[in-house]
Amino acid sequence: MNGHQGVDHDQELDAKFKELSLMKKHKRSQVVRVSSGLPHQQSSSVSEQEATEERRRHNSLREEDRVRTVAAMSENFKDILDLVGEDASRQGLLKTPERAAKALMFFTKGYEEKIADILNDAIFDEDHDEMVIVKDIEMFSMCEHHMVPFIGKVSIGYLPNKRVLGLSKIARIVEVYSRRLQVQERLTKQIAVALTEAIQPTGVGVVIEATHMCMVMRGVQKLNSRTITSTMLGVFRDDPKTREEFLTLVRH
Ligand SMILES: [Zn+2]
Repeated sequence: MNGHQGVDHDQELDAKFKELSLMKKHKRSQVVRVSSGLPHQQSSSVSEQEATEERRRHNSLREEDRVRTVAAMSENFKDILDLVGEDASRQGLLKTPERAAKALMFFTKGYEEKIADILNDAIFDEDHDEMVIVKDIEMFSMCEHHMVPFIGKVSIGYLPNKRVLGLSKIARIVEVYSRRLQVQERLTKQIAVALTEAIQPTGVGVVIEATHMCMVMRGVQKLNSRTITSTMLGVFRDDPKTREEFLTLVRH
């Protein structure tokens, strides 16, 4: 009954795997706000004090969580070093698990940020109705299939509808979404949707051109292949002339 034994063996291995991986389970929490639970209708000085206290508690919780997450990640990176055939205890590698953990935390810091927190003080009423374009915003992200980088440039255009967004904030939207595990198609769309939700423009266009290390360093190993994705919303989708204007300006 070889087949039967095989199934048992697989289940046993599977159970063992789950047990072992549970021992190391620590999930980075997305601590975004700590509510004091108090009503905010008191005098402004008290509210300010409260707000400061709330921020302080929020920051220390966040820091505590970060330390725990880096520690748990470092343990796992130590195992990975051994698993690739290295000796994790040799001198040159002693601090590598912690460095790798901190680097990965940085590459995925977008999980700790919310678009609303970043944009709320940078939306302005403005009667400008010409296309606004920010092009060639540098982008560094991590492909969610292989956890290796894909890097490139993002160009964003929109047609305002009574409201504009501070220009530097457009790059911040890119940062928040690209510093997560991503696929390029979703990243493109998320940026377009975030901009739409923030200022309800008449139209939005986002184009990303990127090189994926999972294609360059493994698999097909095509050094110069680039992937281009685009999302067009509103008039950028419906009106070929607007779309063409955007694409022409982005290309040059
Ligand atoms: Zn990949």
